[in-house]
Amino acid sequence: MIELDNVSYGHNGTALFSQLSLTLAPGSFQFLTGPSGAGKTTLLRLCYADLRAQKGKTRLFGQDASTLDRDGVAMSRRRIGVVHQDCQFIDHLSVAENIALPLTVAGRVSEAAGNLKELLSWVGLGPQSGRLPPELSGGERQRAALARAVIMSPDVIIADEPTGNVDWEMSQRLLSLLVELNRMGKTVLIATHDLNIIRSLKSDVDARVLRLKDGQLTTAGSVL
Ligand code: ADP
Ligand code: ADP
Repeated sequence: MIELDNVSYGHNGTALFSQLSLTLAPGSFQFLTGPSGAGKTTLLRLCYADLRAQKGKTRLFGQDASTLDRDGVAMSRRRIGVVHQDCQFIDHLSVAENIALPLTVAGRVSEAAGNLKELLSWVGLGPQSGRLPPELSGGERQRAALARAVIMSPDVIIADEPTGNVDWEMSQRLLSLLVELNRMGKTVLIATHDLNIIRSLKSDVDARVLRLKDGQLTTAGSVL
């Protein structure tokens, strides 16, 4: 689905990592762990072509990202649902409008209504659909962000600290939604520094744990 091949990246001339490789195989479920500042968010942004590798190759759905024009990148990105760390809602639009936004922007308004109702109930936000984002709790915001990430039926879900700022019960609920998406065949990559949430995974989920530290990406094994 997505492949980083010997990629280097640094912000403002400071190298974060070099010659780093990562493969998101179809249907895989992976965690990206590592200390704060290690470059997890940066690595995720490379995966969804929000940043361009400074060296090495990024392949999105079999295509070399460096050969894609703006439209090509936009097309690929439609197949990737991103849950941003800070959710990035438009505060004057309702929760329902925020979740439907990717469909509205793509001009697929007619599909929005049906998909939306189903999605709202899946994440348990039916009663909150008319509220504004600033009125939501942390857990509600994260569930709304997840709903918005999947409304375009992406093949890949990339989530940056989806369980940050929520209590344990809500973390479990969010994780089970992500597991459910993976069971539906979606490729999932989750950045988190919450090792407890990884340990809480049921043994029937085939998850891989990667660790990014000092510019090196290592496999921490399937169980910690
Ligand atoms: P986390 O460690 O929870 O993943 P972030 O990835 O949001 O946190 O940020 C890590 C560090 O990167 C923080 O010190 C933050 O200030 C810095 N940072 C994030 N985005 C930017 C940016 N656009 N410009 C400068 N610094 C940034
Ligand atoms: P993590 O998600 O693991 O906390 P980040 O990828 O957010 O790590 O950040 C890694 C490093 O890169 C940090 O030192 C951060 O300050 C820096 N950084 C992140 N984003 C930017 C940016 N847009 N501009 C400048 N520096 C950044």
